[in-house]
Amino acid sequence: MKCHKCGKPMKHVKGIEFNEYKIDGWKCSCGEVYYNPEQAQKILLLNKLKKKVIRARLGKIRSNLILRLPKDIETALDLEKGEEVLLKVEGHGLKVMPA
Ligand SMILES: [Zn+2]
Repeated sequence: MKCHKCGKPMKHVKGIEFNEYKIDGWKCSCGEVYYNPEQAQKILLLNKLKKKVIRARLGKIRSNLILRLPKDIETALDLEKGEEVLLKVEGHGLKVMPA
């Protein structure tokens, strides 16, 4: 990738600080930084979601309750159908974490 500012080739760098997260991107000797757009977008979405309380509806299949997660959560946390998540009961609530 070439720098838009000076035209020099940019270095691919892992772990560039972006908000409170670290993501991949490209750095130029002139100081210009590009972030991996897909990773940056996920972090912006995560930050947006962290500020809200999200409502989700419970369904039921046979004797199991099914928690339906909104699309934004799926995208921000990289969740996929069939994937395992970790559940932890905290106080009167439930914390769901990617495994
Ligand atoms: Zn440059």
